[in-house]
Amino acid sequence: MLPTLFVSHGAPDLVLHDVPARQFLVGLGASLPKPRAVVCITAHWETPYTMVGGAARPPTIHDVGHFDDRLFQIHYPAPGDPVLAEQISGLLHFAGLSNGVDKARGLDHGVWVPLLLMYPDASVPVVPISIQPDLSPAHHLQVGRALVSLRKEDVLVVGSGSFTHDLRRFRGQSIDSATSEDVDAFADWFGRALTEGRMSDLLGYRARAPHAKANHPTEEHLLPLFVALGASGTDAHAERLHTSGTYGFLRMDAFAFN
Ligand code: ZN
Repeated sequence: MLPTLFVSHGAPDLVLHDVPARQFLVGLGASLPKPRAVVCITAHWETPYTMVGGAARPPTIHDVGHFDDRLFQIHYPAPGDPVLAEQISGLLHFAGLSNGVDKARGLDHGVWVPLLLMYPDASVPVVPISIQPDLSPAHHLQVGRALVSLRKEDVLVVGSGSFTHDLRRFRGQSIDSATSEDVDAFADWFGRALTEGRMSDLLGYRARAPHAKANHPTEEHLLPLFVALGASGTDAHAERLHTSGTYGFLRMDAFAFN
């Protein structure tokens, strides 16, 4: 059975730089059995309640700011899976979770940065799912729990965010700058809480983890992790697949939940 995953997509220009996090994602797709579809919970789609992308041909969204003009040339032409999107909507509804299907939604860079590296031939259909920036980690865990049956159907559930994400720290550093001490302190605490399965610490990380608000001034880049964690089941075991940093403040850690 496939694991569920959390991956850090970092800055959109990850696809252009030969750094360890990029190499990791390139190897990750090949290391797993090929799924029949990918469901990607993305930090870059924020809605008041859960939305599921149901486009048959989702366009590439170039929500990449001014990082590098080459990013605007990138298209990720993976097909959608409207039938799976409706199935997911039904699962969420059955779990009592408000949701909708957006038949026009494309793939933002939270989706295409990791998937372009994992599945460069764009042959695996993709269904994006939104996060709710004003709702709790516990809500996102519940969204994941509603999707737990997907693993058994060869569907790969991927939460795409960033293990740390305080963009105010960007001062033109190079991508391979060493991460600061408080960034590592937060990431190490959170990583240990995951691998030790300390669920109440994870759900209460904002009050309990060192430097939580400094590393996640807003929560949207960590919330996809809780969906992926929930989607692996109630007795999930977290395994750290990767750790590195970019720009001195973006920890690029990835986890599998089995
Ligand atoms: Zn992002």
